[in-house]
Amino acid sequence: MFDTLIEFIRDQYQTKDFIPLHAPVFSGREREYVLETIESTFVSSVGAFVDRFEQDMAKYTGSQRGVATVNGTAALHIALQLAGVKSGELVITQALTFVATCNAIAYCGAEPVFIDVDRHTLGLSPSALQSWLAENAILDADGLCRAKADNRIVRACVPMHTFGHPVELDLLVEVCTQWNLVLVEDAAESLGSFYKNRHTGTIGALGMLSFNGNKIITTGGGGMILTNEVLGARAKHLTTTAKKPHAYEYVHDEVGYNYRLPNLNAALGCAQLEQLEKFIEAKRALAGRYASLLQGSALQFVTEPADCRSNYWLNAVICESAAHRDALLAETNGKGVMTRPIWGLMNTSPTYSHCLKGDLSNSTWLESVVVNLPSSVLSEFLR
Ligand SMILES: *Cc1c(COP(=O)(O)O)cnc(C)c1O
Repeated sequence: MFDTLIEFIRDQYQTKDFIPLHAPVFSGREREYVLETIESTFVSSVGAFVDRFEQDMAKYTGSQRGVATVNGTAALHIALQLAGVKSGELVITQALTFVATCNAIAYCGAEPVFIDVDRHTLGLSPSALQSWLAENAILDADGLCRAKADNRIVRACVPMHTFGHPVELDLLVEVCTQWNLVLVEDAAESLGSFYKNRHTGTIGALGMLSFNGNKIITTGGGGMILTNEVLGARAKHLTTTAKKPHAYEYVHDEVGYNYRLPNLNAALGCAQLEQLEKFIEAKRALAGRYASLLQGSALQFVTEPADCRSNYWLNAVICESAAHRDALLAETNGKGVMTRPIWGLMNTSPTYSHCLKGDLSNSTWLESVVVNLPSSVLSEFLR
């Protein structure tokens, strides 16, 4: 089976060379826009492409406001701060995620609580969340959610749309509303993914995107906060050193951050966004081909959840066992076809091993069997 898979992948990418997991594609007006910033001298934190990128992205996602940042982690840090997360508080997230989700929580002085994922979404499980809260939390007289163990406030909940597949948002919204948790979506991997026709990252009070080099579109490095007008204005203020608007005076009215996305990067982003739908078409076509190839095989291809359109940012398979997974990784990587296991669970990282957690059966199983397959945009879709 591994040979058939490797041959299939080589055939898709039409090369005998090394095949990466995900390579960026610059097939549009990237050069033109980036050059424009150089010629205008506006390469840094002021410039027309930043505004345009924010507006184009807000329009594409259907968000009231988009605020561009220097990377996705910074976007999540500010989103959490605007969700009201304070030092000493708790924030729910999934154990099966990239470390940036947890780091942004830690930047606020808060601590993650690790909850299991669903097998069909690979993302935060609403039922696992509900059971953990029912057993381990109370709503106090002020309506605040508190951990029974030490009375800490549980302020927010950060689901992550793994590999672009949306989590069960309707159910999560219900649980978060019942327990007074602010929903902040880590949509770093899911630009172009929709849950019941609504873009991921726009359903919670706040959401964020990443435009790192390995994401579906890239600005080199970059991110964006998605939110409403009011929080968006606050996000802009906090990410631009909290400077009060004035013709020439420097007045900063709180501790702000220099989290601005440079115009140079935004120019790249504008050109990339123009091609996003084409990239998604290519990725969904490749996913369809993987799915047919692997149908009935020992490798179970991960497909989009019902009622969703996934961007299929990274294709993934579920192996039969950890040994089967190890064999697949060794065979493909040995033959110049890059594949990767999913992240280790965050509760096993030394940085976060002391944090509270629920039952993590699904996460533990998935950690041992999931493998990502090459997912770059196929050149046949770029003509
Ligand atoms: C990429 C990513 C981030 C952070 O984005 P950066 O732009 O790299 O800081 C956050 N969360 C998840 C799940 C990611 O995949």
